[in-house]
Amino acid sequence: MGNVTFVSPDSRPKPGSKGTVRGTYFIQTWGCQMNEEDSEQMALYLRDMGFQPASSWRDAEVVLLNTCSVRRKPEDKALSFLGELVPIKEARPNMVIGVAGCMAQIKADYIRQRNPHVDFVIGTAQVSKIPEMVDAALHTKRFRKRMDLPERKGAVVTDIPQRNLERHSKLKAFVPIQYGCDKFCTFCIVPSTRGRERSRPTEHIVQEVRRLVELGTKEVTLLGQTVNSYGKNLAEGRVPFAQLLQLLSGIPGLERIRYTSPYPRDFKSDLIDVIRDVPQVVEYCHMPLQAGSDSELKRMKRLYTRESFRKIVQELRAKIPDIGITTDMIVGFPGETEEEFEETLDAMREFRFDGAYMFRYSPRPGTPAALEEQIPLQVGKDRLNKLIDVQTEIVMEINEAQIGKEFEVLVEGASPKDPGVLQGYSRCFRMMHFAGDADRYRGELVTVRATQAYKWGLSGEIV
Ligand code: SF4
Repeated sequence: MGNVTFVSPDSRPKPGSKGTVRGTYFIQTWGCQMNEEDSEQMALYLRDMGFQPASSWRDAEVVLLNTCSVRRKPEDKALSFLGELVPIKEARPNMVIGVAGCMAQIKADYIRQRNPHVDFVIGTAQVSKIPEMVDAALHTKRFRKRMDLPERKGAVVTDIPQRNLERHSKLKAFVPIQYGCDKFCTFCIVPSTRGRERSRPTEHIVQEVRRLVELGTKEVTLLGQTVNSYGKNLAEGRVPFAQLLQLLSGIPGLERIRYTSPYPRDFKSDLIDVIRDVPQVVEYCHMPLQAGSDSELKRMKRLYTRESFRKIVQELRAKIPDIGITTDMIVGFPGETEEEFEETLDAMREFRFDGAYMFRYSPRPGTPAALEEQIPLQVGKDRLNKLIDVQTEIVMEINEAQIGKEFEVLVEGASPKDPGVLQGYSRCFRMMHFAGDADRYRGELVTVRATQAYKWGLSGEIV
């Protein structure tokens, strides 16, 4: 079992049943799915300590901020939230305030200096220390921090974060399979905030997914910064990502396997064959391109070219014609010329992605690109708007071409905006809306025929 934390279902207090309720908690999360997953782990640890979710952060006894550093905006939001907590902490000095996540990892001292009302700061690899930090804050008023980030020494990594496998029951769940990153793209702070690449032992992942399925999960999304390079540095020997997918597909009751985000250079034919051949692995891939020109990709230190990216997309579409492919793009990277930006627009038109997350470059202190001369703010904004316009048109064309087609959809429940409408995602990650009874269909796989196209996806009817 190694260092996985496995709490027997009978040995911990459950909200509303046996065990002492010690108070309430609120967790505010910014950033990526890895942070969302870390927040769920924090919630599990607090649940096991006897805390229940609070209806609002204003009433909570424990408030945790799980921060993001990938752009400046979420950092500003976290600092602003800490400011709002000042009067509440003054009125209720026993309230516990903890800061975690990527910003905590690289700015612990800054956070503490500006916010003396914070009780503790923990780094990204210290989530399992939540119980000890909360208990210490409740009993002493001394500030604490735990920032150790496992460094990889040699080829094999054994220092993998502990995880609580007694997770919440959910239809769809994230499962981290790899932490950190070895790629060091020049715009990215992640190798500093999450450390070097470490893969979780295969047996721990299989065990966690099995448990999730027992708890009712039908779809898992495997998480890693470069998820398809999973398997390097494992003590028991290399297990390629494609093989891990095959292993997981053997778990009875697991309907769908997703993963994010694969790194283009490591996307090989064996993975494409698994997507085509293994029914549980969905026909979808989110593969960040970031820029359309080779010169810019080189300055970003992305280890592929547009041509090598093109070969992967061509093989994916040749072997799996209905595959959905989405991407991430950055505009306004330092030194980006008008010609390079035109190449990015051209790449969008060429690849015709089914969706794209598009960003204006945000300099991250401590990364090489932040030291370069920055392009003017307005130029970056204008380029982002142009890119969004081009991509929106492409997505509308693609979605309109889906009308009349049938999609397998995992029903998640009623749309938050319209309780009379059900929603869920197709295998190729199209958001689908359709009429139906939530109590009858929630958690079911249904076939939906598309009747209308939108920017956000498709509406249709159950066949
Ligand atoms: S691959 Fe690049 S962008 Fe992705 S996490 Fe690693 S360094 Fe950051």
